[in-house]
Amino acid sequence: MGVMTESNFKHRISHWSRHLLDQLLPPRCLACGGGVQDAGRICSDCWRQLDFLQGPACACCGYPFDFGSDGALCAACLKSLPPFRRARAALRYDDGSRHMIISFKHGDRTDYGDFFAQLLSQASQGLELSSALVIPVPLHKQRLRKRRYNQAAVLAQNFARKKHFDYIPDMLVRHRYTPPQEGNYACRKRNVAGAFNIREKCRQIIAERAIIVIDDVYTTGATATACARLLKQAGAGSVDILTLARVC
Ligand SMILES: [Zn+2]
Ligand SMILES: [Zn+2]
Repeated sequence: MGVMTESNFKHRISHWSRHLLDQLLPPRCLACGGGVQDAGRICSDCWRQLDFLQGPACACCGYPFDFGSDGALCAACLKSLPPFRRARAALRYDDGSRHMIISFKHGDRTDYGDFFAQLLSQASQGLELSSALVIPVPLHKQRLRKRRYNQAAVLAQNFARKKHFDYIPDMLVRHRYTPPQEGNYACRKRNVAGAFNIREKCRQIIAERAIIVIDDVYTTGATATACARLLKQAGAGSVDILTLARVC
């Protein structure tokens, strides 16, 4: 058993007390705290603020189009086709979704897990897969220590359970501590290229598999590209990217 530090202890206590309160109080909207019918969901006002990316989009990266034609690619994908097959996101990353995603990422709000998995599950219909191997984009261990959990792993685990897909939490390792993702595409690409590795013990299960890489937000596609390139080089049959939200 690991050593329980003071902060760890406080964290556990706050987790238990929140769990206990959840049992005793009427269900609350995850986002605004208003009353809702079912626990672990958001209210209709918060729901209306979300922009669901269900319309026409780039066949590869999922960039939304005003009007669609099947199989059309956006300018960026036409210029340089990404190594992943498709990237799909549930929501536009905007004022309506940002605060939920940030509190999930930094605010210890893992109670969002099941709700977000539901959104990912809907967005995954665009991937047309009946079976897949689901993996999260990893955090560097230094950042994991600070945050206590990898938000992408919470998403991936809940999503895989919902879809009855295989789940491997540690197939990819982030061995380089990259600064928080800022700056333009070229800068981010430099930061993440070569930041990941495949864990040796996982190599033999990649061959020919359809792999879904899960992350919270698709920003420039640099992370998705780095992960997909690595998995394709290791023999993956296909690599798709599924995120909660997308900057667009
Ligand atoms: Zn609400
Ligand atoms: Zn595209």
